[in-house]
Amino acid sequence: MEKKPLLGLTPDELGVIVAEMGMPRFTAKQIAQWIYEKRATTIEEMTNLSKVNREKLARTYCIGRQGPAEEMRSKDGTAKYLFETANGKMIESVYIPEADRATLCVSSQVGCKMNCHFCMTGKQGYHGNLSASEILNQIFSIPESEKLTNIVFMGMGEPMDNLSEVMKAITVLTAKWGLAWSPKRITVSSIGKLRELQQLVEQTDVHIAISVHSPYHAERLRLMPVEQAYPITKVLSMLRNYDFAHQRRLSVEYIMWSGLNDDAAHADALAKLLEGTKARVNLIRFHAIPGVNLNSSDEDSMVAFRDRLNDQGVVCTIRRSRGEDIFAACGMLAGKKLKNEK
Ligand code: SF4
Repeated sequence: MEKKPLLGLTPDELGVIVAEMGMPRFTAKQIAQWIYEKRATTIEEMTNLSKVNREKLARTYCIGRQGPAEEMRSKDGTAKYLFETANGKMIESVYIPEADRATLCVSSQVGCKMNCHFCMTGKQGYHGNLSASEILNQIFSIPESEKLTNIVFMGMGEPMDNLSEVMKAITVLTAKWGLAWSPKRITVSSIGKLRELQQLVEQTDVHIAISVHSPYHAERLRLMPVEQAYPITKVLSMLRNYDFAHQRRLSVEYIMWSGLNDDAAHADALAKLLEGTKARVNLIRFHAIPGVNLNSSDEDSMVAFRDRLNDQGVVCTIRRSRGEDIFAACGMLAGKKLKNEK
């Protein structure tokens, strides 16, 4: 029988398990401490539980920690990790060290349903949701786990399409009994599934990043089919009801394509679209992927676009590209065995 993972469970959920097994109530708290605070990798390590109780627990459960199946390191220090999921699929996480922070970009799904025209993950279709345990395993099981300062949900998948498991993972990251992180260390990216996004905004204090990529409905629709069901104007209008001026941040992600969305008219239309949102814009270089006839804007166009937005009072920066040589940059994650990528 496949053992069930404890990673991702709350003390209350652990309480139900220990009660069913006839263990004392306080055992749930001890188990949570072993999983989250002491980062145990086996039930055997839980030495303040009796041997009998450890054996009983281990008959049905495991911690749920499984290291990466493969890893690849970029010359810029970025590392890409490939994890095998419970159903035998592959997902990727990207570790991005910087001078003052260490960020892990995690996946929330195997593949993705959203079919964005420019995205390698979208090209492979949808193959399932990750459980909270599988999301957290990416964070707990990389070699740099204890160095991490930030988590971004910007890997494979649309987090709003797997909201309940993403929320469970955020709970573990931020709860006192979990990692006790400030929600300000977590950013969740979305293409804007309206109802789920609103739920996330209302029920957590994490930063939000919205993929916009074009200020025009018809053009965005060609790039991102989600524009049909959830036009970006409606998404931004919903977000205007919440405070992103003080404790939490709203970012707009904008991939720049040469001759498509990188001229002055697009910059002006984007500034207009963002009026009243307090969002800051990240300009992102496009990384070529097979079968997509789009090219990245050049540096001069990106600088001109950034300056034009800044001149109109929109905070805008150009995001430094990381890990392009190992297919770890934005839009390039495919969950393939690394050796097949050469
Ligand atoms: S960009 Fe995000 S939402 Fe769109 S297909 Fe890729 S992973 Fe899915």
